Amino acid sequence: MNALAGLAVPPLSPSSREDDCCPPREDDYRHSIRSWLKANLPAHFRNDSTAYRAPTLKEQQAFEAAMHKAGLAGVAWPRAYGGQGLTLREHLVVSQEIGAVAMPESVNSIGKELAGPIIQAVATEEQKLRFLPAILEMRDTWCQGFSEPGAGSDLAGLRTRAVREGDEWVINGQKIWTSGAYRSQRCLLLARTGTVEDRHRGLALFAVDMKSPGIRVNRIRSIDDKESFCEVFFDDVRVPQVDALGVPDEGWAAAVRVLSIERATNRMHRSWRFENELNHLIAVCRADPVLSDLLAGSHYRRRIAATVADIEVLKAYVESVVAAICRGEPIGARGSLYKLYWSEAHQRFSVLARELLVQASVDAGPAVENAITRFNGVYLAGRAETIYAGTTEIQLGIIADRILELPRVK
Ligand SMILES: Cc1cc2nc3c(=O)[nH]c(=O)nc-3n(C[C@H](O)[C@H](O)[C@H](O)COP(=O)(O)OP(=O)(O)OC[C@H]3O[C@@H](n4cnc5c(N)ncnc54)[C@H](O)[C@@H]3O)c2cc1C
Repeated sequence: MNALAGLAVPPLSPSSREDDCCPPREDDYRHSIRSWLKANLPAHFRNDSTAYRAPTLKEQQAFEAAMHKAGLAGVAWPRAYGGQGLTLREHLVVSQEIGAVAMPESVNSIGKELAGPIIQAVATEEQKLRFLPAILEMRDTWCQGFSEPGAGSDLAGLRTRAVREGDEWVINGQKIWTSGAYRSQRCLLLARTGTVEDRHRGLALFAVDMKSPGIRVNRIRSIDDKESFCEVFFDDVRVPQVDALGVPDEGWAAAVRVLSIERATNRMHRSWRFENELNHLIAVCRADPVLSDLLAGSHYRRRIAATVADIEVLKAYVESVVAAICRGEPIGARGSLYKLYWSEAHQRFSVLARELLVQASVDAGPAVENAITRFNGVYLAGRAETIYAGTTEIQLGIIADRILELPRVK
């Protein structure tokens, strides 16, 4: 039985900037989001609670569809495409409130945070109307088919080919590390239309229907015992021209421009979730006699204080980037600073959390057991945070080249 079946979903009612050029009052808006989450988030979704039980995919999809109906998804997307027609400022407020609650990550974050903005930037009107509402309503979950066995950091080296035949493109090749491909309806596919020597110039984007004949998906088990990762094989897959996104060559350049903003603003909730995790850890430690003694020692006091400083830096950074974008300022490569700092700081924290919790009292009880489960997951998932969306080394290279403009060895 769907946990949300029959749920009456009260909509939020901020005045719309598209309708009357008047943003909602921030305090009221924030309060309405907080109240909605408190009233509607199922108890077993919260992994800081002893009632936690991993939600099923169906439960998550139903909850995310309910969030959209209530106005908590597509906040800054135009109303014509199912969005709320508000601004990035309101999107930040929603992200802060979502981050402050221990709830699962979206199962359609690729659709909402990557495919959606790219579609808005490069797609035709017909494609926008066809794809965007379906993402927000959770009818279509998207995956991202960029990385290949020989092309991760260096995407310009990818070899999956797209050859035009009349009104269709014929796709052949292999993708890897495609998160959630097995449960996706569409794949944002990056494929080569020119030669490998063309590098970035010969690349194009497609919205591939994952039910197309010739697609084979293999799931890969990762260290956190999940099977979200996939290999996706394309064997003479026919994609209609109406599902090609943007003009080949130009589509990629437009997508990259969008991605530089997205890198700085997607998953903005992460800094507030990081704070939620720290607060959870401290609360659990305070309630356990052994852990509470450890917290009193200078070693852990220092490390926890440093974590608080990391979190405050990250939150302030997100606020400053949102303010800059709202003022219309270009943000360039600044997203790399955030990605680098967040992933490194969050990994350090996950080590600290595990190190503390393994020292808990022998008969620690359900709250500590639950925290151990949560923070083991945070630790294992954290191993990937310095890899996906551009590795630490790639972010450092971008900062050196594009922000500092340092010389290169000839
Ligand atoms: C959890 C997770 C989810 C992912 N989900 C997706 C997804 O949904 N879709 C998708 O397309 N991809 C996905 N990826 C793949 C991810 O984008 C790549 O793993 C990443 O881009 C790195 O590529 P690679 O694994 O091929 O490593 P490589 O590019 O081979 O890099 C190997 C090592 O060499 C270093 N290196 C490479 N180039 C340089 C350089 N120029 N300078 C300095 N050091 C360098 C790297 O930092 C790294 O340490 C995911 C990865 C992870 C871990």
